[in-house]
Amino acid sequence: LIELRDVNKYFGTLHVLQDINLTVGRGEVVVVIGPSGSGKSTLCRTINRLETIESGYIAIDGKPLPEEGKGLAELRAEVGMVFQSFNLFAHKTVLANVSLAQLKVRRRKKDEADQRSRELLERVGLASQADKFPAQLSGGQQQRVAIARALAMDPKALLFDEPTSALDPEMINEVLEVMQQLAREGMTMVVVTHEMGFARSAANRVVFMSDGRVIEDRTPEDFFTHPESDRAKDFLSKIL
Ligand code: ATP
Ligand code: MG
Repeated sequence: LIELRDVNKYFGTLHVLQDINLTVGRGEVVVVIGPSGSGKSTLCRTINRLETIESGYIAIDGKPLPEEGKGLAELRAEVGMVFQSFNLFAHKTVLANVSLAQLKVRRRKKDEADQRSRELLERVGLASQADKFPAQLSGGQQQRVAIARALAMDPKALLFDEPTSALDPEMINEVLEVMQQLAREGMTMVVVTHEMGFARSAANRVVFMSDGRVIEDRTPEDFFTHPESDRAKDFLSKIL
């Protein structure tokens, strides 16, 4: 479903993604881990073209990424992204946050969009919060709204960039549980996270990045029990 071939990306002279090859099949959950600055966020951002690349090929469902314009909004609906910092509209209600892109991008009627939003809020355990504003919710609740908003586009895949890193510890699990549920339901997901419990239980593959390269791409079991590279061993020894 997601295919990257020989992708290279520079920020000035910094070669931030180096010959990245990665495929994510339909229904697969790929967890991306690696040290700070290794290019994990940039990798996610290139997949829905928040960043351009200097060379290589990226395709979603066999179609190369669109260059610009209308195709980009469509791409970002089909490949939703959930960020560390929720990015909700502060002056809109929870319901309006989930409905907005349905009206603008998917061109749904307001009633239809709101109904879908309520279904999704129910699914993430927030049915009773629809009329509140983001600031009235906890961080974990806000992140679940952000997930509902991404789901409202009926995406083919979801990208998560450290979705629980900004949360207080007691709120991490409520977000991970929603993500686990999506994984079980067959959502295709690329997840940058430090939550190794999630990686072990939900991931089909773990991709370890270091200095802009994919160093390992294996099953979680393999990766955690027999990391091959010194860099992965060193990384694991620091976080486990
Ligand atoms: P972290 O774990 O800290 O989130 P990361 O693996 O997500 O790190 P990236 O954010 O992808 O890493 O950054 C990779 C490298 O690219 C870093 O050296 C970073 O400083 C640099 N970088 C990221 N964004 C930009 C930008 N917009 N302009 C210039 N350099 C950037
Ligand atoms: Mg990052």
